[in-house]
Amino acid sequence: MSMDGRTCVITGSARGIGRGIAEYLGEEGANVVVNYRTSEGAAHDAIDAIESKGGSAVAAKADVSDRAEVEHIREVCHDAFGQCDVLVNNAGITADKQFTEMSREEWDRVMDINLGGMFNCTQLFYDDIWNADEGRLINISSVVGKQGNFGQANYATAKSGMFGFTRTIALEFAQGGSTANCVAPGFTATDMLESVPDKVLDRIIAGIPLERLAEVEDIAAVVRFLASEDSSYVTGEVIDVNGGMDL
Ligand code: NAP
Repeated sequence: MSMDGRTCVITGSARGIGRGIAEYLGEEGANVVVNYRTSEGAAHDAIDAIESKGGSAVAAKADVSDRAEVEHIREVCHDAFGQCDVLVNNAGITADKQFTEMSREEWDRVMDINLGGMFNCTQLFYDDIWNADEGRLINISSVVGKQGNFGQANYATAKSGMFGFTRTIALEFAQGGSTANCVAPGFTATDMLESVPDKVLDRIIAGIPLERLAEVEDIAAVVRFLASEDSSYVTGEVIDVNGGMDL
C-alpha cells in the first residue's frame, strides 16, 4: 500500500473532506491522527472505519486556532506513532456576508481558524516534516481563493493567503527534501454547503463543466497522491480539483 507506515495528521477530519482524506489515507496503510474540535462521536466513528479496514488511527481534540491545543495534537501523534510525516491543514470555516455587512469579528474568526490554524499546525509540525523521509505539507484551499465569491471576502482572502504561504514553505522545505502543496477543491458535497440555498446550488452546478459537485473522495484521491512518495518532484503547486470550473 502506498502509504504504509506513514503518519498523517489531518485537521478537522471527523467529518466532511477531512474525514474523506482520513479514511482514504488510512485504507492505504497510513497511521492517522483524526483531529476534531466539536465532532467527538464522528471522530470515533472515523477511527472505527479506519481500524475496520486494518488501519491505525487515534483522535486528538483541539481548536486549531489555539496553539496550546495544537500542542496536544502533536503529543497525541508522538505518543501513538513517534512522529508526523504528513500534515494536512484541512480545518476551515465560513462566515458569509456581503462585505459592507461583514463585522470585524466575522473577518477575524475566519482568519484565526483558516490561516491562524494553518500557522499553528505548520509551525508545531515543521520539524517533524523537515526530518521525515519525504515529509509533506498539504493545505486545503478553495477555488474561491482563486476566483473570489460573492459574500465571502473573508473566506476568499484566507484561502488565497494559503497559496503564498504554501509556496514560501515549499522553498524553505526544499533543501531538506520535503514538499508543500495546496489542493483547491471546487464546491464539494459536505455540511459546508448546507447553508447554500438549492437555487444557488443549481446555478453553481450549471457552471461546472463536469455537471456535478465534487465528492469528498475526489479531493481525497488528489491528497493521497500528494501525501505519497509518488509526488516527490511536485512542490509549491496549487492543484485544482473543481470539475473544470476555470475552463
Ligand atoms: P465542513 O463539512 O464544514 O467541516 C469542517 C471541518 O473543520 C470539521 O471537521 C470541523 O471540526 C473542522 N473545524 C472547524 N473549525 C475548527 C477548529 N477551529 N479547529 C479544528 N477543527 C475545526 O467543511 P468541509 O466542506 O469538509 O471543508 C473542509 C475544508 O475544505 C475547509 O478548509 C474548507 O474551506 C475546504 N473547502 C470546502 C469546500 C466545499 O465546498 N465543501 C470547497 C473548497 C474548499 P468539528 O466538526 O470537530 O468542529
